[in-house]
Amino acid sequence: MDLLEKFAPVIAQRNSLPFDNTDPFKVVMDKVISETEALIEGRHTILAGTNNYMGMTFQPDALEAAKQALDMFGTGTTGSRVLNGTYGGHKQLEKTIADFYGMKSCMVFSTGYQANLGLISTLAGREDYLIIDGDSHASIYDGASMGDATVVRFKHNDADSLEKRLKRLPENAGKLVVVEGIYSMLGDAAPLKELLEVSKRYDAMTLVDEAHSMGFCGSTGRGVAEDLGVEHLCDFIVGTFSKSVGTIGGFCVSNHPEFDVLRLVCRPYMFTASLPPSVVASATKAIEAIARAGNRRAHLWENARRLHAGLKAAGFTLATQQAESPIIAVCLPDPLIATRFWETLLMEGVYVNMALSPATPGGLNLMRASLCAQHTTEQVDMIIERFKHTAASVGLSLEKAA
Ligand code: PMP
Repeated sequence: MDLLEKFAPVIAQRNSLPFDNTDPFKVVMDKVISETEALIEGRHTILAGTNNYMGMTFQPDALEAAKQALDMFGTGTTGSRVLNGTYGGHKQLEKTIADFYGMKSCMVFSTGYQANLGLISTLAGREDYLIIDGDSHASIYDGASMGDATVVRFKHNDADSLEKRLKRLPENAGKLVVVEGIYSMLGDAAPLKELLEVSKRYDAMTLVDEAHSMGFCGSTGRGVAEDLGVEHLCDFIVGTFSKSVGTIGGFCVSNHPEFDVLRLVCRPYMFTASLPPSVVASATKAIEAIARAGNRRAHLWENARRLHAGLKAAGFTLATQQAESPIIAVCLPDPLIATRFWETLLMEGVYVNMALSPATPGGLNLMRASLCAQHTTEQVDMIIERFKHTAASVGLSLEKAA
């Protein structure tokens, strides 16, 4: 019995997409020229799909600290945080993040995925209820399946739907509501104030994933909860180093006095190796830089608004009415056009993410652009022009805005 046979439909679906030269799963960055440019198969390409929102991948202090840590501590820790894998750098990073958020405690994980997996599966136990947004990231769904809690979904970003679900649950049961600040596919922001206020009215604990909002939302870059002044309603804030922080890793901050017990019970924290010292050192410097990066934040928002307005004026259908984040998603009519569009745009020298059903909300066919604070205004204009040119090449008719 061939255990891979069950994936025949996936193989068939993938083979049905008419790529001529390359496909989104085979892109190789031969050389990264800067935060915003790379050589892909010999072509000079503008990167507009990297999640490198704050452009921290080449931040000089982060680079220098990583190099020093490599020389002093070696290439890896070869152990779990609860055995031999906690170095001074890990403790320093946890303090830096706790201070950045103004919270008592921080736990650093090896990825953001593991942070969600660990917290969600551990916090909500057998007798508890886990209430999640229907459009949650895979790491939230996977945390829900790994744990023993009863899972209840509510309609995306809908506080009334959340309230309806909460109302039906036993008053005295443990409840954890999980939401995200910015949703990664469409780039839409959550109405966190309403969602968190409802949650608190029903005595639920709350976890907010700020993976796609840390860095540029809020006056110091802590995320949507900071922006909306509702951090006091968050029991746990989760984040990642793989986007605005420019490296890899994940974290959770909390003011809960017993938060540290999670280090002894959270399996995705305990049963995996800790982050390499070089990564820890660069994350620490990048977060310090984010805290004082007001100008970068402002330029990133200018870029986002410019790209959104330019594509809208050209007649593209966009996933949000205005730029709610540096993620600007263009909706295309079907997977075949999406496939041709994505490949033609890449040949034109612009890399974006193609996202199709079932990875997208509502089964949309998306060209998902994500901007960087280091994109120049000229690069943003070039992205817009190349989108327009690509639309003409693939025969996509655009409805010009009045
Ligand atoms: N949460 C959300 C909302 C995400 O989009 C992602 C990654 N795309 C993660 C968590 C996981 O982050 P990491 O890349 O650090 O595993």
